[in-house]
Amino acid sequence: MSPIVAIVGRPNVGKSALFNRIARKQISLVYDFPGVTRDRVSHDCVWQGHPFTLVDTGGIGLEDQSGFEEAIQREVDIAMETASDILLVVDGRDGLNPLDAAVASKLRRAQKKRIFLVVNKVDSGKQADAASEFYRLGFSKVFPISAAHGLGMDELMSALAENWTAGEAPPDRSETQFRVAMVGRPNVGKSSLINALLKEDRVIVSPIAGTTRDAVDVEFTHYGQSYCFVDTAGMRKKGRIKDELEQAMTGRTAHTINRSHLCVLVVDALQGVSVQEKKIAGLIQDAAKPCVILVNKWDLVSKEALKQAKATNDQEFRKEYEEAVRRELFFVSYAPVLFISAESGKGLELWLQAMKKIRALKLQALPTGILNRVIQKALSLQNPASNLGKSMKIYYVSPKKEGVEIPTLVAFINDKKLWTPDYQRYLERQVRAEFDLEGCPLQWVVKGKSEAQMSPQS
Ligand code: GDP
Ligand code: GDP
Repeated sequence: MSPIVAIVGRPNVGKSALFNRIARKQISLVYDFPGVTRDRVSHDCVWQGHPFTLVDTGGIGLEDQSGFEEAIQREVDIAMETASDILLVVDGRDGLNPLDAAVASKLRRAQKKRIFLVVNKVDSGKQADAASEFYRLGFSKVFPISAAHGLGMDELMSALAENWTAGEAPPDRSETQFRVAMVGRPNVGKSSLINALLKEDRVIVSPIAGTTRDAVDVEFTHYGQSYCFVDTAGMRKKGRIKDELEQAMTGRTAHTINRSHLCVLVVDALQGVSVQEKKIAGLIQDAAKPCVILVNKWDLVSKEALKQAKATNDQEFRKEYEEAVRRELFFVSYAPVLFISAESGKGLELWLQAMKKIRALKLQALPTGILNRVIQKALSLQNPASNLGKSMKIYYVSPKKEGVEIPTLVAFINDKKLWTPDYQRYLERQVRAEFDLEGCPLQWVVKGKSEAQMSPQS
């Protein structure tokens, strides 16, 4: 995960100029007066092999003529919420300004973030002394630079990059093992599928529903990555199909789903989707888990379908079948639908690939720059209908990286009341059209302006 560097400071100190200097592109406009609209707020950069995202908080939401105080508060909120490193920019020609001190004290609340005091507009050696008065802000080190002329940039960038590799958090142990829950009705072929995948007799397969099994986690490795099927036989513990059905619809399945990183919902191709599958899909949606839908026993269906000559070819029949499954299981519309046969082994490879892909997706944060472009474009094409007499503004969308299990987007907007489920679905479609997130749900956290101000640390 690459670090996010946020540029914060009062208007006109040269934040855009610094943004451009680091991004080495004229993508953020520089004007002589504060409060101008800017069209780029973040950019994915690389410095000496280190990827990072640069965010110009000053480009965010200034256009709504809010006061300086409010604008700066919002910048600080965004930086504290999203960034790992913060560049506090001050104006070396103007000297220390009370607003600088106010911003500095707000930033100090950010724990575990590195804050760099950058004194800009130090265009020549003669002005170097200008930087010293800023020590009064209480930072141990001050970086004098000239964004306009590119002076002092190496020192600043080296200091920034110092911790990026060395300080990286050790890999989360729970991430080394990927837990997969096989869920579905009894007899759909969950155990057979696991068996086929393992190509060994780790799981008992029996045509008699209700064979007693112990609750077990089955582990296997695929291309060096370790996976674990959780609670594979646990659902049969009581040994009777009625019990299992009841359990499947209640706590047991919910528990298994919650323990997992990925849910594989198995459907019997001959039986199709029933109310039980719908309930399970609902549980998967509630738990916001990645999901793959396997239509198993396809070997039987193909023969059947041919016999009855319902479709001209297998391909066409699959398409129809998939549409029907998607209609019924719309809760998990993000899940791929794969056709498989535990008996013949067809489709196993695709299933493995899907699991591998989803696993990689979970760990990957969306690139902030492209993401914001997608969102702004979506917003300009279609603003949510509102009876409140104002239109929604999305200042900035940031992928949340810490403490999340699935791709999560934090949207900073002007008024939470303007955000509707319909509009969220619309935005989600746009995001999914840009990024391939198949198999993964997308989570949204919406922050309204007033809320962000009341609890800047939340
Ligand atoms: P922002 O509002 O903080 O983003 O500030 P801008 O980047 O728009 O810059 C405000 C003004 O300061 C512009 O007129 C810039 O040309 C000027 N400026 C920015 N960096 C420097 C610098 O290093 N030296 C000098 N002399 N002027 C600068
Ligand atoms: P579970 O209860 O979901 O774990 O289902 P099992 O794996 O025990 O399978 C139930 C029955 O379906 C067994 O008789 C299997 O042999 C059969 N079965 C499973 N998968 C397939 C398949 O892909 N094709 C065919 N023809 N039969 C299958």
